Amino acid sequence: MAHCFLQVALDTPLNSCFDYRWECQPGEEPAVGQLVLVPFARREVVGLIVAVKGDTLVPLDKLKDAIAVRSQLAPLPERWLALVRFAAEYYQRPLGEVALPGLPKNLRVPKTVALDRALKKLAKEAASHDPTPSGMPVLNPAQQEAASSIGGAQGFTPILLYGVTGSGKTEVYLQACAQVLAREQDAQILILVPEINLTPQLEGNIRARFPGVMLATLHSSLAEGERMLHWLAAHQGRARIVLGTRLAILSSLPNLKLIIIDEEHDPSYKQQEGLRYSARDLAVWRARQLAIPIVLGSATPSLETWHHAASGRYRKLELRERAVRDAVLPTVKLVDMERDRPKDGLTSALIAALRGRLDRGEQSLLFLNRRGYAPVICCDACGWISNCTRCTAFMVLHRPEHRLRCHHCSLELRIPRHCPTCGNVDLQPLGRGTQRIEEGLAAMFPEARILRIDADSTRLKGSAQAAFDTVHRGEVDILVGTQMVAKGHDFKKLTLVGILNPDTALFSQDYRASERLFAQLMQVAGRAGRAGAASEVLVQTRYASHPLYGAVMRHDYDRFAGSLLEERRQAGLPPFMYQALLRAEAPALADAIAFLEAARDSMAFDAVMINDPIPMTMTRVHNVDRAQLLVESSSRPALQAFLREWIEILRGMKSRVRWSLEVDPLDI
Ligand code: ADP
Ligand code: ZN
Ligand code: ZN
Repeated sequence: MAHCFLQVALDTPLNSCFDYRWECQPGEEPAVGQLVLVPFARREVVGLIVAVKGDTLVPLDKLKDAIAVRSQLAPLPERWLALVRFAAEYYQRPLGEVALPGLPKNLRVPKTVALDRALKKLAKEAASHDPTPSGMPVLNPAQQEAASSIGGAQGFTPILLYGVTGSGKTEVYLQACAQVLAREQDAQILILVPEINLTPQLEGNIRARFPGVMLATLHSSLAEGERMLHWLAAHQGRARIVLGTRLAILSSLPNLKLIIIDEEHDPSYKQQEGLRYSARDLAVWRARQLAIPIVLGSATPSLETWHHAASGRYRKLELRERAVRDAVLPTVKLVDMERDRPKDGLTSALIAALRGRLDRGEQSLLFLNRRGYAPVICCDACGWISNCTRCTAFMVLHRPEHRLRCHHCSLELRIPRHCPTCGNVDLQPLGRGTQRIEEGLAAMFPEARILRIDADSTRLKGSAQAAFDTVHRGEVDILVGTQMVAKGHDFKKLTLVGILNPDTALFSQDYRASERLFAQLMQVAGRAGRAGAASEVLVQTRYASHPLYGAVMRHDYDRFAGSLLEERRQAGLPPFMYQALLRAEAPALADAIAFLEAARDSMAFDAVMINDPIPMTMTRVHNVDRAQLLVESSSRPALQAFLREWIEILRGMKSRVRWSLEVDPLDI
């Protein structure tokens, strides 16, 4: 019997490809892209075959036999392999660490019971039979033009769909989908949204419009069984529309013909741990690889995308008006908190506006990006404040839960009855979070139905969806929430948005803070007045003359983005500069810095600037000190060439310091 050698990628750090021997059964050659069970470090693990070879450099006595090839599963396509290879190279990670964790867990276990059961179940399910859409509304001329431009695009066509909030981007996506499904037999479409909470509304829309089309959702809160079924449906080409969060960009889609990224500016598209990839950037790469159109939709595009559109690399389609008849953008007013002093966090102007909405039976939304009751408690007598003992951060007061919580290391304490240093029993909450605003509202408007939506109120599975449903049903008068409520949702009865305390971001060290604040304010303001009723947004601020607020009042993204880009160009910042960030963490800051200094001195490279190490702004988290080192270049290829060499040197450095490298970091 003939044998061959399989090069197998495993989910292990550093070297992630290993050779195994395989006895070929006649007529059953293993193929690149198949999954295979192999022995590794006294365990049995599932890996991915990346090459099938006639010989190997590994000495035969060291070579182990592969245990089983998963031949019941079609190999992952060549183009999918090319995608994960690119991601591994670009983000400087081992191939196995990119390729395998994205697969459903049940595919990566030694037993195949779950896989076999899923395959059987899927074989019984009706495939897509009829892509004809139903109940499509009549599009307005701008929507119509955008939809046919997308639907008719051929070859690699990156398109920015720049449409104000409520301009009906979703309908444009759905029409474009209809055109592609009708034209291309077996076509698959991938739609990405930034948050799980946004999938149910869109999922409902898609199912209603395309009753004959199989839709698969992919996001992290699916149960393992479902995740497996949906992933397989996409992999087999049976699911014609795949709707998911960022992780869906790494799914196998053999007939992918169109990619849509909704709210493309959203930072959630960037993974913040492990493989720190940008799903948006990978999506653009994937579209180029497959020579297909990709739509990036937003009312507040990222500056990267805006820059590409301005320079003509991306096609720009605009929707300047709201889609619903008579719906206009809300009037934005600034409330000067120096003049109108807030009571319980609310100015009299905002209180009056809330009162008016309650009297008319309309909904209001108060947006405050700070959960908990108060960000810190303190002792007036001796100056003690509730610092976290493990982090450079405060313990946040969560009054309903009777806890102090650190939002960074998850340390929890009971609320102290008296000051730990001087014994004073009168400890004061300082500042306001969503819980405290909710409490103040309840006292002020006892008759109102108030609902808070934030990470604390929606811990249980399904509770976020239930909360949003309550709002949509009109059973809430005042909604209080964090950025969870600011994005994407189409609240039809909402006519007032109050924005509390946005000022801190104006003075952040992070150069992206103003871009983010602007986007966030435009997005949350965009929740108001979507169904036609006159609406307003009140921004409570101490800096009423700040130009950023002026731009928000005028809904003037164009000019604001233009001036930010100009600032970035002059300061030599992205998108005019390419960056990578080396992070190091150690129990003592000096060790982290010493590692970074050694890394800095280990290599010099033309056209790449290596900065000095600095402690991170929040230096200590969970008893570990963190520092970082920024490298930058005005040439992406130069930076990539540098990183390829540098990472090998870093891997060879004998150090106990934990480190990680991030390409295109968002937070510096
Ligand atoms: P966006 O994503 O651009 O913020 P949506 O796609 O959520 O906006 O659409 C906003 C509202 O406009 C939705 O309630 C939607 O049903 C409605 N809408 C969209 N297109 C049309 C249309 N052509 N005619 C009437 N209503 C529309
Ligand atoms: Zn004290
Ligand atoms: Zn902590």
